[in-house]
Parts: sequence; structure tokens; C-alpha cells
Amino acid sequence: MKDAAPQTIYLSEYTPPAYLVDNVHLTFRLGALKTRVISRIAFRPNPNAATSDFFLHGDDLKLISAKIDGQSIQPALSGEGLRCAVPDAPFVFEAEVEISPAANTALEGLYMSNDMYCTQCEAEGFRKITFYPDRPDVMAVFTVRIESDLPVLLSNGNPAQAGEAWAEWHDPWPKPAYLFALVAGDLVAHSDTFTTRTGRHVDLNIWVRPGGDEAKCAFGMAALKKSMKWDEEVYGREYDLDLFNIVAVDDFNAGAMENKGLNIFNASAVLASPETATDADFERIEAIIAHEYFHNWTGNRVTCRDWFQLCLKEGLTVYRDQQFTGDMRSPAVKRIDDAMVLRAHQFREDNGPLAHPVRPESFVEINNFYTATVYEKGAEVIGMLKLVVGDEAYAKALDLYFERHDGDAATIEDWLQVFEDTTGRDLSQFKKWYSQAGTPRLTVRDEYKDDTYRLHLRQETPATPGQNTKDPLLIPVAVGLLNDNGAEVLPTTVLEMTKAEQTFTFDGLASKPVPSILRNFSAPVIVTHDKSNAERAFLMAHDTDPFNRWDAGRTLAQDLLVRMVRDDLAPDAAFLDGLASLLRDDTLDPAFRALALRLPSEGDTAQALFDAGHTPDPIVVNQVQEALTLQIAQHLQDTLPRIYADMTVTGPYAPDAGPAGQRALGNAVLALMSRLDGGKQASRQFATADNMTQQLGALRALLQTSKGTAELAAFEKQWQHDRLVMDKWFGLQASLASPENAALTAENLTKHPAFDIKNPNRFRSVFGGLKANTAGFHHPSGAAYALLADWLIKLDPLNPQTAARMTMSYDTWKRYDADRQAKMRLALTRIAQTPELSRDTEEIVTRILG
Ligand SMILES: [Zn+2]
Repeated sequence: MKDAAPQTIYLSEYTPPAYLVDNVHLTFRLGALKTRVISRIAFRPNPNAATSDFFLHGDDLKLISAKIDGQSIQPALSGEGLRCAVPDAPFVFEAEVEISPAANTALEGLYMSNDMYCTQCEAEGFRKITFYPDRPDVMAVFTVRIESDLPVLLSNGNPAQAGEAWAEWHDPWPKPAYLFALVAGDLVAHSDTFTTRTGRHVDLNIWVRPGGDEAKCAFGMAALKKSMKWDEEVYGREYDLDLFNIVAVDDFNAGAMENKGLNIFNASAVLASPETATDADFERIEAIIAHEYFHNWTGNRVTCRDWFQLCLKEGLTVYRDQQFTGDMRSPAVKRIDDAMVLRAHQFREDNGPLAHPVRPESFVEINNFYTATVYEKGAEVIGMLKLVVGDEAYAKALDLYFERHDGDAATIEDWLQVFEDTTGRDLSQFKKWYSQAGTPRLTVRDEYKDDTYRLHLRQETPATPGQNTKDPLLIPVAVGLLNDNGAEVLPTTVLEMTKAEQTFTFDGLASKPVPSILRNFSAPVIVTHDKSNAERAFLMAHDTDPFNRWDAGRTLAQDLLVRMVRDDLAPDAAFLDGLASLLRDDTLDPAFRALALRLPSEGDTAQALFDAGHTPDPIVVNQVQEALTLQIAQHLQDTLPRIYADMTVTGPYAPDAGPAGQRALGNAVLALMSRLDGGKQASRQFATADNMTQQLGALRALLQTSKGTAELAAFEKQWQHDRLVMDKWFGLQASLASPENAALTAENLTKHPAFDIKNPNRFRSVFGGLKANTAGFHHPSGAAYALLADWLIKLDPLNPQTAARMTMSYDTWKRYDADRQAKMRLALTRIAQTPELSRDTEEIVTRILG
């Protein structure tokens, strides 16, 4: 069966399912080339349905036989699924289908990864396993029998029975098909246990292939136990099965998947040891394990009615994992990290042709909407809601949400209703955050007269594709006021902005205060405030809100970079001196100082230039960025060696926030020192490092200064057996190659024997690296545009999801000059004209080209 012509699906056209499922029994007779899936599904007509049409999704299935209530039938098959006549009463549908896991390179449905069977069903992968109403609002109890002589056979829920070459699993919790999972393979477990607060004993396992990975599971297991405890303590949510399994898989399109009781993880999102994983990897793993675990309540027990509600589970669960990381580490550093990610990815999305609301209103391929907007902006919306209603009401509303919707497939309306019921507030204006795309601009003007200080705020959201006019949003603007000595005259206060323009008045102030606006990044907006550099430097030195202290430095750096590109200016002392005093302030968290040293990315600067009405030249941006880095290094040169020495961590490696912050600052300082010493210290660090954070930090510092050839070779020799570490080796070279060599470097990497187009991690390490190399990707030759297009055309028939995702690399094309635009358009057109292009990639190309 082939894909039918791509169809657009609309939120407004939602209709309830015609039939509900009470229970499902599945038998898998596993074979790599041919797997038989035998299903027995108990249906009943849905009294709330408007139709009695019986339709089951099915994609690329070979139907062997089908029955209704034991009688053979000949259903009508189409590219989308199956139709047949059914009784107007409960009935049992049975089918036997054949699928080929070994031929499944799309990694969606049941597929093979290194001789292991595994599944990925979100969003619509279950229809590649058997005929089923593959939509999240059909929830059922699953029993699964797996027949195979492989030693480990896993599915959702609790183990029921097992025998010679078979095992049966039963999941008592009704769930949609997207949470189905099956794993079979030669696996070993790292095991532990957890006792819930009401005394339930839970067995915990992280399953890996034998041969070394067993030693990389301890950190993930500790993170899982911390997550389980945190969710009990902070959200009152307890685990609900006797078993929790995690499986590490090498070939996986996403980071991880929250299947009920059987989470499947990209190996890179769970395996870690000090020698092979960086501090950033450890933090990311802890967060992803928490995220998938938290889904057990926000996603699994309460799921989404339809895929337009994806942000209901993702926004909330990202928000919860951000809270968790803040609690485990530093809330201020976490907030800065999250804001950087949001600005780099979500603001970029909002500014381009792929802009869409947190809850989109239409899609062709839902896999294309697992975006920064749905996830990260979705989380910001939750954070704003909490700020608006207050912590206590938030907690009450969440309790009500779980109580009211447990076992439901819910909507954003249901979610907001619990807040309205808890607080008595009308949240209809707040709801626009879900439907209105684009990043609001918040313009600030202020005046002081006769002891009274006035803040004039104006909001405006630019037009986005399909949305030309925008309404004012409810924006919580956290504000603090400081006096000339840096003392707070007004502690953090949340102003609720609801109109397009609004003035807030503060009386009884003896002198003109310095405002600190949008503290802790209280809303996902861009603030424009005509402040002097002296005022920004003052906030950088004195703001009592750590986020705004960091952001003041960031804004200074961004303005400086824009002016250096535009007017060919030298950096001013206000920024360099401010940076120096931050760096030397030993009372500040090293992790915070490391973030303060990091300049805005070249992509950020290109966007800032574009916003200011200029056409950015990525080559010039790169040169200016390098020049400023060198000037910072020179300005700080007396301080750098001392800080570097101070950041030496003694004792055994631990991935905790404290030592990780020290290593982060050490590496940031090393990168600057390498600009001055030709990489001497970095070579020493590389040679003596006993952990990946320092080894990779040194290698990065060397490559940034066009050194490190010998170290690259040594690194490859040392780590060629380790796929995850080699991903770093590939990625670093593609992302740090000089602009003129970037495309050639990436092309040579694709010729390396360890390059594998079928492995998403490896493909992303090379081409994600090339995309991250802004000046290299946008080199005027257009070589990188063409190379990426060549590879996307090769990848699309194998793995449409990853191909579509990587096609998004061209989404900034309208930012650049006519010549670059023409070259990118040519690359996109070549992709668009590929015969039999997947629905996934076609949708992205069409949206980018507009
Ligand atoms: Zn998620």
C-alpha cells in the first residue's frame, strides 16, 4: 500500500471515534523479515459518535485474514486503512497481518536496531503494526503475547505469564495505541527497586545490549529514582505498576518515548559514564529520564484527545522537568539555559515560515509538529499560568486536573477549565497564548517626576503565516526597581499586562529608579528598552535577579556585536569591564559565570541584525564574533590563568551541579586562553583529562583555534568502539570547521567508514553540526546547501521523519541576500521535485517556500 495524496487535517474538524475499544489482545510471532501480528479487539459503538462508519488505520500492512465475531470477512482496503460493515452492538474484530521489521528503516512502528526488536508508535506508528483506530482518544486495556526465542521479551504493564519462547504482558491501565511498546532481544539489565510513598514495591530495570553498556546505567537509574520521589513530593503523583522498564536503543528518531511501563530511549539519552559523557550529557539524561517518567501522569494517565493537543502533555511535562532540574541543580542557571534554548530555537521558528501556534490548527504530518513551539513555548505558557494564578492555586488546579481527567483524553479547554474553577478567573484572554503564533515584542518606556515613576509598556506580535492580525495577550511582566546603590526599592512584582498599551505607576520614590524588567524571564517575549550601556552595565553588576543580571550582559554583548558588524566599531569598555568584574566575582556560581562568558550565537546575531533592518552576512558575523572573542581574551588575560587554576576539581569525578559548574567555567576560560597561547594549555588538558567534559572541552578549544589535528586523530583512535562518543567526534568537526571548509569537512565525514545514513544520531551529528556552523552552512559558495540537499534526498525514502526534521535547516533562508536565497531555494526545489517524496518532507519544504 502506498501513501495517498497528502491531506491537511484540521482541529475544527474533530469528531469523536465511531467505536470504542474495551480491550485488545495482540500476539506477535516475531521474525526479522516476517512478523505475524494477530489481533483480537473488542469494540462497541460509541454512543456519542455522529457516524457508524467502521474504519481502522493501517499503513503498509499485509492482511492475511480478518474476522468479525468469528466470521471471515473481506474488508475494503485503502492506502490509509480498512473499512467493513459491522454489527450495531459490541463485537470482536480479529485480524492477522504480516509486517517486516528488518525492512523498516523509518524507525516508526516495529523495527530492528542491532538485532533487537523495538517499537516507536507516537504519534501514528501503531498503524504500521496492525489495523487499529490509531488515535489518542481511543483508550483500551492491552494484553500482549510475544513469541520468539530471544531471551528478553518485554511489553507494557506487568508480566502476566511466560513459557518456553513466549511471554505475556498485561497493562491494566487503559491507554491509546501510541503508548504501546514491545522490545525483544538479547539484553541485560541494570536493576534496582523503589518503594512508593504508599508502600508499593516497584522493580526498576535499564536494559542494554551486553558488552559494556551495563556500566553506563547507574546514573540513569539514580535519576529515575530521584524523579519518582520528586513527583510524589512536589505533585503528589505516585507510580502505578509493579515494574518500570527502560530500554536503550541505538537507532531512534527522537530522544526517548514514555510508553506505559516500558520507556524506550535513544541510547544517547540514557547511557553515561564519566569517561564517555560530558556534564551536559549527564544533566540532559537526568532531565530526559525525569521527563519520560513524569509523562506517566501528564500524558499517560491523562492523555490528549487529538494531536492538536500535543502541548497539553508536552508543554506541561517539559515545564515539570524544568522544575525538577532547577530543584536538583541551580534554578537560576536552569532558567538561563532554558531561555537560551527558547530564544535560539523557538524564537527562530516564530520568526520564520514554520511559525505556528502552541496548539496548531492544522497539519499534514503530525511528526512535523514535535517542535520547539509545542514543547518549549508550551512549557513557558504553563510557567506564565502559574505566575498569574499563584503557586497555591496552581497546586490545587493540578490536583483537580488529575482527579477530574484521570483516564481521559483531554483538551486545552479541559486544562484551562480546572484553573478557572479553582480561581474563579476568566482565562479566555490567557488562552490566546495557545492559538496565536509569533513572539510578542514588549516595548518599554519610563519616566520619573515628583516621586512618581511610570512604566509605559506596549505589546505587539508580528504577523506569522496565516495570522496577519494579533490580539493583545495577557503577559505577566515581573518587575523590580533598584536605586543607585543597587539596593531594591521594589522587590519583584508581577504586573499583568492585558492591553496593547498600558502604564504602571509607582509612587513615593525619592529618586529615579533603575528598572529590572521581565525578571526570571517571566514571559516568552522580546523586550525592547532604550537603555544606555551604562544602565545595562549597572544591571549586569547589581541586579538582584540573577536572570536579568545575566541578560543585561547578554544584551550588551548582542548590541555590541550588531554595532561591530554594522559600524565596524571596536568593543566598548562598559561591556569588557562588566564581564571582567563578573568573572572575578568569586561569590558567584561558576556555572553562572560560565554562562555570562558565552557570547550570543552567530545565529542570534544574524537574527538581531535582520530585526534591525539589515541583511546579515554570516561570514562577517563570524569574523566579528571571533574578533570580539579575541578582545575579551586580551582584556581578561591577567585573570584567566588564575580562574582556570581555581576551577580545578579535586577528588573523583561527580556529575553534580557544583563540580560541573567549575568544569564549565574552566572550559570557557580555556577557550579564551587558547586564543592567546596557541592551544598550549588545551593540549595539556586534552592529554591529562580523565573525563569526557575536559577531554571534549580541550578538543573544542583546539579546533576553534584551527589546531588539534593530532588530538582529533588520538580521540578517534581512543573512542572508535563507542558510537555515542564518536557522534561527538563527527559533530565537533562539522560544527567547528572553518566557513570555507565546512561543506568539504562534512562531505569527508560522510565517507568515513563509521558514517551510517540509517542511524539518526550519526546523521544528525554530521548535518546538525553543519547546520550549527552558521558561517559554514551559509558560505557564499552554496556548497553546504547543496550537500545537505543531496543527503536529504537520499535519506527521505529511508527515514522521512529525520529527513523532514533536517530540512528545517533552511528555515532562515529569507533572512539572507538574494544570492544565498537563490541557492537555498534551488536546494529546496531539488528536494521538492524528488519523485515519491515523503509527506513529512513535502510539508516542510512547502511551508518553508511559502
Ligand atoms: Zn514528552
